[in-house]
Amino acid sequence: MKNVQRVLLASALALLSLPVMADAAHPKIGFSIDDLRLERWSRDRDYFVAAAEKMDAKVFVQSADANEQKQIAQIENLISRGVDVIVIVPFNATVLTNAVAEAKKAGIKVVSYDRLILNADIDAYISFDNEKVGEMQASGVLHAAPKGNYFLLGGAPTDNNAKVLREGQMKVLQPAIDKGDIKIVGQQWVKEWNPTEALSIVENALTRNDNKIDGIVASNDATAGGAIQALASQQLAGKVPISGQDADLAAVKRVIAGTQTMTVYKPLKLIATEAAKLSVQLARNEKPAYSSQYDNGSKKVATILLTPTPLTKDNIDLLEQDGFYTKAQIAGQ
Ligand code: BGC
Repeated sequence: MKNVQRVLLASALALLSLPVMADAAHPKIGFSIDDLRLERWSRDRDYFVAAAEKMDAKVFVQSADANEQKQIAQIENLISRGVDVIVIVPFNATVLTNAVAEAKKAGIKVVSYDRLILNADIDAYISFDNEKVGEMQASGVLHAAPKGNYFLLGGAPTDNNAKVLREGQMKVLQPAIDKGDIKIVGQQWVKEWNPTEALSIVENALTRNDNKIDGIVASNDATAGGAIQALASQQLAGKVPISGQDADLAAVKRVIAGTQTMTVYKPLKLIATEAAKLSVQLARNEKPAYSSQYDNGSKKVATILLTPTPLTKDNIDLLEQDGFYTKAQIAGQ
């Protein structure tokens, strides 16, 4: 083969292997979600897709079903589809370094959604202020049980939010511990935020402490649900203050019934819409309006932090006013 032919062939091959040219008017977005089987994440998906489509983007959604290998494979699949942006709700915060690096090599922007991906070159992070959520959870329980034995029911150890929530919770609890008003009699992380796991953890905690637990700081509604089942089997539901977050429908009903002290409302339409906007802006090389920065171990990540709202029986009507649930949904059996 002559030199000229060789050069021509090489450039033809290079052209073939180029990713599909990005179309800024119609960006393609991959949305890789830890687990769509959970109530909140399917709502996040619906709002996200609706908002992105309004901006002429196309969204490819994947659910990893709480499996880190599956999530990595799905991200690789999105990379080979030639999307412009990948938005990720990580199952495990610490295992996506290589997958993110591959995406970046292919010129794809990466957004961390709700949970921060650690040690990876992500472009942006969007979440609610999780430290504030933790503070609200501890304040809610402390207000109802200013003294006594406390149990801390943490989130999934693979989820960075679980640690940030705990930091917020401790900010509020530490002064009460120092004063001798409350005593932490146990604490445990709940694998995969699993309610059944939470149930058995709290069952054991009650047994170990002769049922002498006066407050449970639970980190979300799903795990609070498991904990409340354990309390109910000891006739303690409604007697031991307990927190949550997400305003899951079952939790809202428990707050009204008095078996759960509070939950935290995070308007999912807001985060999903803002994330869709952010993703489209990144795809179009526009500059999103960030509100803060978050160190993920490898860089200071440009971040948008949204504001959560604590909910008790007294202001639970907000959910209806905000269109999060209808009156019939809240009243339903
Ligand atoms: C989210 C919570 C959710 C939990 C379990 C956390 O990262 O912030 O809203 O309840 O994951 O899915």
